[in-house]
Amino acid sequence: MDSKPILALNAFDSSAPHDLGSALEARVRRRAKLFGAASVLFYDRPLEIVRGEGCRLYDADGLAYLDAYNNVPSVGHCHPKVVEAAARQLGQLNIHNRYLHPGIMDYAERLLAILPADLSNITFTCTGSESNDLALRLAANVTGARGVIVTESAYHGNTALVTEVSPTLCKQHSAAAHVRLIPAPDSYRVPPDRLSEAFAAHVAAAIAEFERNGAGFSALLVDSIFSSDGVFADPPGFLRAAIDVVHRAKGLFIADEVQCGFGRTGSSWWGFARHGVRPDVVTLGKPMGNGYPMGAVVTRPDILDAYCTKFGYFNTFAASPVAAAVGQAVLDAIEQDGLIDNARRVGSHLKRGLEDLAVRHAAIGDVRGAGLYLGVELVEDGATPAPALAKTLINALRDRRVLIGAAGKFGNTLKIRPPLCFSAADADHLVAALDDALTQTSRSV
Ligand code: PMP
Repeated sequence: MDSKPILALNAFDSSAPHDLGSALEARVRRRAKLFGAASVLFYDRPLEIVRGEGCRLYDADGLAYLDAYNNVPSVGHCHPKVVEAAARQLGQLNIHNRYLHPGIMDYAERLLAILPADLSNITFTCTGSESNDLALRLAANVTGARGVIVTESAYHGNTALVTEVSPTLCKQHSAAAHVRLIPAPDSYRVPPDRLSEAFAAHVAAAIAEFERNGAGFSALLVDSIFSSDGVFADPPGFLRAAIDVVHRAKGLFIADEVQCGFGRTGSSWWGFARHGVRPDVVTLGKPMGNGYPMGAVVTRPDILDAYCTKFGYFNTFAASPVAAAVGQAVLDAIEQDGLIDNARRVGSHLKRGLEDLAVRHAAIGDVRGAGLYLGVELVEDGATPAPALAKTLINALRDRRVLIGAAGKFGNTLKIRPPLCFSAADADHLVAALDDALTQTSRSV
């Protein structure tokens, strides 16, 4: 079975037969004309969303959709605290970061206080891609080597450097000599007591290959919950053996927290904490600004110093007073709305609901994840990936006004990662809609 590039998952396919009606067809065509081949839309029947609030999105006809897909507006769409903070600061001052402004320092101190103590320097960016791009450059500089290890279906962003380590972005991928792709820690197919050891062995083999081909070993870069690989969170601690291998080989461990940072896994602020590991660099993005473009690279001073003696780093829109105000409001919302605890409680409730469905629907091979980042792997004949079913179900849910996405090498894992204010009633609603969609789908085949 061919692997599926990330942008093909749940994408509207204008070449497939479709009947959108004249008004929607006209809007889809207008967009395709403007954005050309790079235009990607979700769903067989694309959605026009005009408003969001909490975990609800509203389309142009005023219909409400339960959002179980969007992790960027992590504290909820249009959270009043974030909206107010951004508006207030925009009305006062928004400027680049080469003046003294207390806002960004207050925010930096607050953020560093919830990260490991040795990672005491922070560099702000505007996107996850920029964060990973800088992280890779820091690692190459301090190790004097180029070799980077990532998982087979990893996505880490869109710059030239990061595209090279984002295999799932490429339709035809042959990794460069300085990039090694290793299998994801697939807890569905590898027994839990062998997972850690197997993953560490892949890392060790890749490092040995870099020694042979002359690239040298620079870094292991992983998304702490392996989201584009299909969502792998268990057993907790499985990353530890691999990180020991990395550190013994004098490479860096870069924890990409763009997907699961800021409380999503329900037990800590950060996904890597689930594994009890020590990153050398942490990259942040998406949920950091709840939709305002913010990212950051957090690392040890020795790593940043070594880089800045040669290059330095400046990013015009990063670390602005508005970014600081928004970042503070996001942290306030997480703390004051109890969102980490909510992710844990509602996440386990939702997971139990999905596991109950798995008992009744043979197509569900596995339910996994942590907090409010869950994956539901769909299979046929007990184990074969079923991407067509995933697509059918995602569209059937969309028709029931529940939004989810797809993940995994073959696109056969349902990706569920709602805003962290998702309630138990929202979880029940999602499970009932999926139950109904699965029942209808199995009747119609
Ligand atoms: N890392 C991971 C794990 C991601 O999922 C993404 C975006 N999907 C990125 C990095 C890149 O972030 P951005 O799109 O903000 O550049």
